[in-house]
Amino acid sequence: MPPVFRFAPSPNGLLHLGHAYSALLNFDRAREAGGRLLLRIEDIDATRCRPEFEAAIYEDIAWLGIAWETPVRRQSEHLAEYRTALEKLSALGLVYPAFESRAEIARLVTAREADGPWPRDPDGAPLYPGHAKSLTDDERARLIASGAPYALRLDMAAACGVAGLSWNELGEGPGGERGTVPARPETWGDVILARKETPTSYHLSVVVDDALQGVSEVVRGQDLFHATSVHRLLQALLGLPQPAYRHHGLIRDGEGRKLSKSDRSTGLRELRAAGMTPAGIRQLVGLG
Ligand code: GLU
Repeated sequence: MPPVFRFAPSPNGLLHLGHAYSALLNFDRAREAGGRLLLRIEDIDATRCRPEFEAAIYEDIAWLGIAWETPVRRQSEHLAEYRTALEKLSALGLVYPAFESRAEIARLVTAREADGPWPRDPDGAPLYPGHAKSLTDDERARLIASGAPYALRLDMAAACGVAGLSWNELGEGPGGERGTVPARPETWGDVILARKETPTSYHLSVVVDDALQGVSEVVRGQDLFHATSVHRLLQALLGLPQPAYRHHGLIRDGEGRKLSKSDRSTGLRELRAAGMTPAGIRQLVGLG
């Protein structure tokens, strides 16, 4: 079976040089390995994703000279599949609803920090500080019936019964990690798997899709290196195969900052309008 690669952008803005690098690396890897390249549109966040950004993705990566298989998988069209995976985790007793708003969570963290620093996840966000896990069934039922919004969280302490997980890192983590990397999902705390209105999250849908699409090598930026710990845990809990991972360094701006979709100077559209060619983009990201 030929290896399967995927480029999985979110249509919440225009692509920049960092996306071009990731897409070109996937394309090059697929070509050198005699593999297939899929394109997946990660559009579960209906508030931020827009059809014109999706159209721009197709146009920009075609301009770069990248060819991908069709039909393209659009996550918003597969919510039922994510719901099935979520129900499987719920049936294992690993999911609970948490009703705190973002503001309440921030207040709880501030209160906890009176006694010293509150732990943060690898992205720097505070771990979930609430007590929703210990609500009784009656309290949960009452809150749900009241129409209160909620997030469905993974009971990480219970889920981490799956010990000894690791992944095969073909690229490099931000700390130089490579080869067999031990997964540390506990560093993320009780991650959100879904919300009242959306039966999925980034972590859940990426794991379900990579398995359904038979992805064998995930090529993506180092900003997602630590998220792989959560992905490995979900794969183990859901009985899904594990791909190999190749995390790549991030393209940074002149000040060493991660590129952002809102920064015009590194946008593919702007560079193209300024006369840059696809070969020039390759040069710029070090793939010339
Ligand atoms: N959709 C994610 C992003 O645009 C990438 C997900 C992945 O490659 O796992 O950052």
